[in-house]
Amino acid sequence: MAATLIKGSEISKQIKEELKKEISELKEKHNLIPGLATVLVGEDEASKVYVGAKEKACKDLGIHSERIDLPAGTKEEELLALVEKLNKDPKIHGILVQLPLPKHINDTNVLYAIEPNKDVDGFHPVNVGKMVLGEPTFLPCTPHGILELLKRSSTETKGAEVVVVGRSNIVGKPIANMLLQKKRGNATVTICHTGTKDIASHTKRADILIVAVGKPKAITSDMVKDGVVVIDVGVNRLETGLVGDVDFETVKEKAKAITPVPGGVGPMTITMLMYNTVQSAKMAAGIKVEL
Ligand code: NAP
Repeated sequence: MAATLIKGSEISKQIKEELKKEISELKEKHNLIPGLATVLVGEDEASKVYVGAKEKACKDLGIHSERIDLPAGTKEEELLALVEKLNKDPKIHGILVQLPLPKHINDTNVLYAIEPNKDVDGFHPVNVGKMVLGEPTFLPCTPHGILELLKRSSTETKGAEVVVVGRSNIVGKPIANMLLQKKRGNATVTICHTGTKDIASHTKRADILIVAVGKPKAITSDMVKDGVVVIDVGVNRLETGLVGDVDFETVKEKAKAITPVPGGVGPMTITMLMYNTVQSAKMAAGIKVEL
């Protein structure tokens, strides 16, 4: 039985349509335009592409976008001063500093300087703490996108055995945390990493398998059970094109549903950034939000 595809490209379109409607209502009823500032330091080509895609998404949805490009030699104090200025700017509801930063700048100092109410990436420790406690806050965009993929593909998480492979701060740890919370997933969650003794013994138990390791074919069909739902977060650039972390061709024969790469988790990340920016604008205007 070949798996159903969980198409992030289509689900993200649906969410963007919902956001477009919400944004035009905010403008009409409250004269409110959500604003996102993106800050790029240096000439990293991949970062330029990501920042460009974020700007385009803002434009498509009617979000005010300010892009600030700084030279690679920018001093940390200069970047911190810019963040401080954006923290105070009422037109800006979300601040995104594109990582990686040049080596002479401390990422942590910069991310911690962003006002938590404008931290639409959900990386500030105040927001990470709230997320872990299950309090309303900006959820980090990639794991938030995974929650939406599960919800909108009618994948039941309550009581499910979820196995997450990878424990990064931006994907593995937050998605594991969210799914174990009663209100966000209510699942039984196992996390695997390079210290796990027998990864297959865990992945074979998974009803939902989430893989974020950054290695092609890290998960093969002998490591999964029939009927598993697979979320492949990996993005690996091979000569033949983009592939995920899961051996898609063989695993799809056993899975009930699977995300393709590209077109699975990828498109959700920017969409959830737009979602957080809209929620931030509403919060700033004292309008009720769903976080
Ligand atoms: P990361 O920071 O490099 O973390 C990788 C994690 O995987 C680490 O916890 C590592 O374990 C674990 N790991 C590596 N090899 C493993 C193996 N063979 N078996 C078990 N665990 C293994 O990566 P990341 O930032 O989470 O990203 C992971 C992948 O997702 C990358 O391909 C990245 O490009 C992609 N990604 C995609 C999006 C998107 O929007 N689609 C967003 C973010 C990331 P240790 O902790 O023990 O080292």
